[in-house]
Amino acid sequence: MNPKVYLIGAGPGDPDLLTVKARRILRSADVILYDRLVSPEVLAAANPRAEFLYAGKHAGEQEAVQQWIFEQLTEHARRGRVVVRLKGGDPCVFGRGGEEWATLRERGIEVEMVPGVSSAIAVPGLAGIPLTYRGVSRSFAVITGHCCGETETDWTRYAGIDTLIILMGVSERARIARALIAAGRSAAEPAAFIERGSTPDERTVIATLGEIAAGRVNVEPPAVFVTGEVVRLRQRLHDCSCAPVALAC
Ligand code: SAH
Repeated sequence: MNPKVYLIGAGPGDPDLLTVKARRILRSADVILYDRLVSPEVLAAANPRAEFLYAGKHAGEQEAVQQWIFEQLTEHARRGRVVVRLKGGDPCVFGRGGEEWATLRERGIEVEMVPGVSSAIAVPGLAGIPLTYRGVSRSFAVITGHCCGETETDWTRYAGIDTLIILMGVSERARIARALIAAGRSAAEPAAFIERGSTPDERTVIATLGEIAAGRVNVEPPAVFVTGEVVRLRQRLHDCSCAPVALAC
């Protein structure tokens, strides 16, 4: 059998949001290399006899850890073990999943991709913020708030998209909000940060872009930053205790 690695999305944290396929493979895994955002509850759904290898990266050591990850994946896969590369959310949304997949293929290792529920879409939804809504939003974009030494994001490109979802945007939130306002979005536009979505510690902070730009909003990572008129729907969909006349409250 060819050496193989399963590239699996762990979802946003709640183990019930793992796909059936992810859960099945995790139960039979021999080796699991997991990232920082994979929750302990998700790891608890895996084969308890598996070898669990933490592959979280800290600033400054990314390249060394990435090298170590490839060595581990390659070595264990060549020994014929059931090897899982487990990443938060969906592996191919800002998780370097595609890049790892390409490198493994170059090394002659087969990759089976198992998509996951991405925090970009699921976390706002769980908080009562649908990304599209008839008459309110017909487009959305998912953007990184982290520029990783690459060229600065040109926020004018996103000014006309109804709903913007920014991942890894907590530390740069004031700068991003200022750039969005400068690009033509209203300072009164509602925005939300949802911290630790789908976990028992989930917390939502609502503010305007202007307040965020002024540095008046306290948030802790990991959080999804979502901005657009759909944020107003939260009150209607989520903060509502009256079942029969849902839309009136
Ligand atoms: N591949 C992941 C995203 C990786 S980038 C996915 O599809 O979800 C990491 C960023 O995702 C974090 O900085 C944060 O913005 C977001 N994130 C991931 N899990 C989250 C969660 N449970 N709650 C809030 N934000 C989350």
